[in-house]
Formats: sequence, C-alpha cells, structure tokens
Amino acid sequence: MAINIEKIREDFPILSTSVNGKPLTYLDNAATTQKPQLVIDAILDYYKNYNSNIHRGTHYLSNRATEAHEAGRKTVKDYINAKNDHEIVFTRGTTEAINLVAFSFGEAFVKPGDEVIVTGLEHHSNFVPWQMMCERRGAHFRVVPFDENGDLRLDVLEELLSDRTRILAFNHVSNSLGTINPAKEIIKMAHDAGAAVLVDAAQSVQHIEHDVQALDADFYAFSGHKIYGPTGIGVLYGKENWLDAMPPYQGGGEMIDQVSIEKTTYNRLPFKFEAGTPNIVGPIGLAAAINYLNTFNFSDIISHEDAVLQYGIEKLGKVEGLKIYSKAKQHTGIIAFNVEGIHHYDIGTLLDTQGVAVRAGHHCTQPIMTALGIEGTVRVSLALYNTKGEIDILVTAIQKALKMLGK
Ligand code: PMP
Repeated sequence: MAINIEKIREDFPILSTSVNGKPLTYLDNAATTQKPQLVIDAILDYYKNYNSNIHRGTHYLSNRATEAHEAGRKTVKDYINAKNDHEIVFTRGTTEAINLVAFSFGEAFVKPGDEVIVTGLEHHSNFVPWQMMCERRGAHFRVVPFDENGDLRLDVLEELLSDRTRILAFNHVSNSLGTINPAKEIIKMAHDAGAAVLVDAAQSVQHIEHDVQALDADFYAFSGHKIYGPTGIGVLYGKENWLDAMPPYQGGGEMIDQVSIEKTTYNRLPFKFEAGTPNIVGPIGLAAAINYLNTFNFSDIISHEDAVLQYGIEKLGKVEGLKIYSKAKQHTGIIAFNVEGIHHYDIGTLLDTQGVAVRAGHHCTQPIMTALGIEGTVRVSLALYNTKGEIDILVTAIQKALKMLGK
C-alpha cells in the first residue's frame, strides 16, 4: 500500500506556511525534521494538564507524568527492538549519548596503548569525543578512510582491527553524503576482532532498518528531533552487560542508590546514567513521533523516500556544472552537491529567497570536506513528507539562482 503524501503533509502544520513570500519547500531534514501536529499536541498536553517532576512523586500529577515518561522508554525500546527497557538511556541527543559512551566506556575499558577506530565519514559528534577519550586514556585514534564514491574502505578497516581495538564507532548513514554503511558486516568484523561497536544512528533510525538486536550493536545513539520528535531528547541504547560494567557519566540526583560521606552507591539501569531532573516531556513527544511513524508500513516509507531521492539525483544531475558527491553503493536521504565556480553559501542564500530551505557548509564533517578537497557543499536532505514536486521546485530555483549569479 503506497503512502498518502497529501494526507501526510497535512499532518505537519509548518509545511503549509510561507517563507520569504513563497510556499515553504523544506529540504533540510538532516539538520532537523518538522513535527506532526500530534507531537506538538502531546507536548502541549503535558504542560497544560500534568506537568510535574517524576519518579519520586507521591501525588497524582507526578505519577501520571512518570507513567507517560516511562511509556516513552518502552515505545523507543520496541521501535529499535531492544531486549529490555532499562537498556534505553535518555540523553539530550546523539552528541550526549556518544560522549557518555566515550567517557564511561573509556574509563572502564581503555588503557594506554589501546586503539579506538572511527571512520572518515563521521559527524564531529562521533569523532571529537573519541579523540578526547584517546587523549585522556593514552590510546591511539585510528580512522577508516572512504573512497571517491563515499564508500568506506572496509579493506583498511580489516587491517586496522586488532586485539588492541577496544571500540569502533561509525554512523549507519552519513549526514554529509548519505552513504549507507554496511552496518551488519562492519559490526561482525569488529566483534570478530573482540571490539565493541557504537552505531551513530542519527541519520538512519528514521530512514532505514533500525533493529539493534538484528544489527548486534553494542551501543546505538540517535536524536529525537531528527525523527519528527522534539529537540533536547536523545537515546542511547546499550547492551545491559556493557552498561552494567560502565561507571556513571555524571553524578547528582536520580543516579544514586545510597549517599554517605564514606561512599555513594549507584542506582540501577538506566537511572545510573540519568543524573538530575530529566527532560520529562522529551520522551513523551518522542513516543508520539514514533507512534506516528508506526501508523505506516516502514517499507512504504523507505520506497517513497527512495523514489524521491532517485528522482532528485536524476534531475539535479542534469543541471549544467552541478557535481553530486553522494555516489555510494547504497545511499539514502541526502544529495550533496556544488556548482562549478559558485560558492555553496551563495546557492543556499538564493534558494532561501525562493522559499527553499537547504543547508550549505561543511555539515559538521570537516574531515570529509578535507578528503574531498572542498570547503563545503549544498546539502538537500529528505524526509517522509517530501515530494517529487518539491524536487522540481528545487531544480527550478537552482536554475534561477545560477542565472542571477551570471551562469
Ligand atoms: N551524528 C550524525 C550522523 C548527525 O547527523 C548529527 C546531527 N547532524 C549528530 C550526530 C549530532 O546530533 P545532535 O546534534 O542532535 O546531538
């Protein structure tokens, strides 16, 4: 059953607004997605009707808020097919989830001379925390390069993996190029070498398969705001045995069991990793977004997004002087490009005057830009609600921008 795109677009109120006097064409979904009305309603309902602090309350509002917050954890657990609710740790976003693992895993398991591997395709959020951890722990930081199409060099990964490798961190989908990395294969390679694996799923969990047990990921991180949910809420999934063996990331309320001058003991999972009053409404909004996605067949979402992506690649490919960087074997959601002789910011700005929102820059992936020998790209990134008609609007707007720039 194909999805009803008109109906979907009606679910997202912002999509029928105008920008700079033009109907909005929103193609910046890798930065953040728009929110369906029912997510906005769920957040409003919490603040209007049952705002309260959670977990230790003895009153009605607190119990109701606790139930809704914890139901959000269960919804996330089911969506990514984790084994247990307590393997879902709420964070501020992908960035905080990765920093948590880099810190706590590093403290527990990384010794001087050990090795940590990331890839050259990472967002700075899945690069810098590991560099920092290696500096702290005296470990070596290794980077898997990618080829001219944006595919990872798995032959180099094979060479880099050794009995000194403690952890490998990579993104399932690149936010800069849209490459889908062969996650299962990579995870198996790392496990065969005895290393743990963190998957940065910030750009994959909303577009492609997201079953943590099928992937056999040790850690899996994503952000609510990129999957139609609110900002300020993210998810760290970790296998129970790893989370149990890792020390807390932050100290404070919620994460303790007993506190005394002599010694403090820590709460059970997942609360050991959730110090302080959490983002109470975050999981409520995120669960509303996931429940919205669950009203579709996920395979229909994949087919629709893929059809729009292929159409975009074909149409953009016909624009004279336009070079597309997104050429990996498997690819989703993102088309990165430049036009010969024109700065990416100029295109981004002129598209904005026509109501078309894209992103121009290095997309928090400076190592990718360095490897490609460029400063930045224009990035078109898709979501469930984008259409081929919007690609036509984009292409017309690019052609107009190029004319204005004297091309
Ligand atoms: N990893 C990837 C692949 C991303 O695309 C992003 C966001 N652009 C992040 C990590 C960081 O996510 P956040 O800023 O929501 O923490």
